Amino acid sequence: MHKTGCFLFSFLWATTSLASVPTVKVLIAKSLKQVVLEGTDLQKTIHTQKRSESYLGRKSISFNCAPGRAHSLKLPRNPILVASLKSPTGLISWGKNKYQGELQLLATPGAESCDLVNDIPLEAYLRTLLSKEMNGTWPLEALKAQAVAARTYAYDRLLKSHGIMDEKKLYHLESSERDQVSGSFFDMTEKTLRASRETEGEVLVGPSGRISPAFFHSKCGGKTLRPDQVWGGVEEGYRSVNCTFCQKTGMKDWQQKLKPMKLTGMIDQVLKRYYSEALDSKNIKLMPDTLHNSEIRLYAGDRLHIVKKSYLRNMAGRETLPSNYFVMNQKDGEITVEGQGYGHGVGLCQLGALELAKRGYDYHQILSFYFPRHRMKKVY
Ligand SMILES: [Zn+2]
Repeated sequence: MHKTGCFLFSFLWATTSLASVPTVKVLIAKSLKQVVLEGTDLQKTIHTQKRSESYLGRKSISFNCAPGRAHSLKLPRNPILVASLKSPTGLISWGKNKYQGELQLLATPGAESCDLVNDIPLEAYLRTLLSKEMNGTWPLEALKAQAVAARTYAYDRLLKSHGIMDEKKLYHLESSERDQVSGSFFDMTEKTLRASRETEGEVLVGPSGRISPAFFHSKCGGKTLRPDQVWGGVEEGYRSVNCTFCQKTGMKDWQQKLKPMKLTGMIDQVLKRYYSEALDSKNIKLMPDTLHNSEIRLYAGDRLHIVKKSYLRNMAGRETLPSNYFVMNQKDGEITVEGQGYGHGVGLCQLGALELAKRGYDYHQILSFYFPRHRMKKVY
């Protein structure tokens, strides 16, 4: 990973000037049958036919992505860039949303549809994202902390893609909770613009000096978690930190009751998917749990199983288990789950950052609270 990172790093520096901002390809919609894009002085390229056209003035262009219909685009078997559209004068509209940069249509293998990707300068991407991931009206220092974290996440993806054509998918990030939720042009506010400008090119690096993905979530509920506690993979520099700053805002502490049969089924699925094990007995007995345990321990018959809480959350869904910070107990045949916070709990706690900014912390201080072993580096 390190070698690859270095390679791309030099590639990026070699192909762009020191001051230039890289672009990221962001998946904004999937499985579209038809795409209508509109803009001024549009330049269209149909890559499958090696054909380009320019249109003066305002123009609406319709792409039919379903084969079999008249004028459908030729869809190849492997994912490929089919068509792209840019406007030298600025924005391209898709429905109600307007986008900067280039819009690209990718063919989906085996599906009668296209995916829509926005190839956009990283800083422009961040300016719309801040309104979605936080709120464009939040204090500037909280937005700046989020800008650095989100830039680091995206830049890490850019480095890891080591030349996008090597990847099976032809984009770096999804605009969804899977990666980061970005918006369209009008999600940018004066504050999100300032947050991006005043931190331009700044990312977080781990103790070794390498970029490591900077994760963030809505509300930790009292304590943040390390990536290994949630996903299993170790990312350098992470620490679990006590955060009392999100207590008064956002989702209140939550409680759920689960039927033992439902929990047994979930645990069986988790064991099969993540541990290559299976339950020998449907008679399960939970061992005493605390909020700080990232795993639950249980006996199925005579056999002890240890299961990550985050894997249970993946299986149960966010409605049932809103966070990974919970305690699960069994009493009188009933399972109660009491939890705090919302989201995966790793890295920056957004509601905590909001409170810290209100108390006068600047973005350096906010970031060093949630990422105490990381430091800032300017990459462009
Ligand atoms: Zn918190």
